[in-house]
Amino acid sequence: MIRYALACEKGHAFESWFPDSAAYDKQVKRKLVACPHCGSAKVEKAIMAPRLAGARKRSASAEAPPEAPVAAPEKAQEKKSVAMISPQEQEFRSKLKELREHLTKNADHVGTKFPEEARKMHYGEIEHRSIYGEASTEDAKALAEEGIEFHPLPILPDERN
Ligand SMILES: [Zn+2]
Repeated sequence: MIRYALACEKGHAFESWFPDSAAYDKQVKRKLVACPHCGSAKVEKAIMAPRLAGARKRSASAEAPPEAPVAAPEKAQEKKSVAMISPQEQEFRSKLKELREHLTKNADHVGTKFPEEARKMHYGEIEHRSIYGEASTEDAKALAEEGIEFHPLPILPDERN
């Protein structure tokens, strides 16, 4: 089994398990994978590895305070993404939580100016610092094409339900 971090067209991040990468491709192509937040079947793989240096976020959850539970509407496909959490995953989860708390405490929230700020840093117009904010799917794509590295802020399992 492989776990993929996914994001829908609206930038909602979520995770799902697949037997292998071919199964992922097939399921996404046949629109069998839906966003648990909005039900959209337009999903793609998100870059997941959290990095402290210059960590950012672009998911829609930026609108909510970091620790507030996000009330997601119940969707038919929601039963797809359940998981038994092993002690290792619990550990991982608490690390994510730490990382997220660290980031939101130490990084500047630049809101929708994120793409602009990220670009300025990338091209050396302003000093590098940790920022986080919101970026649309197009912005995110453009940044990636320019070789600007950023990551969605980790989302904790219990905030998605
Ligand atoms: Zn969504």
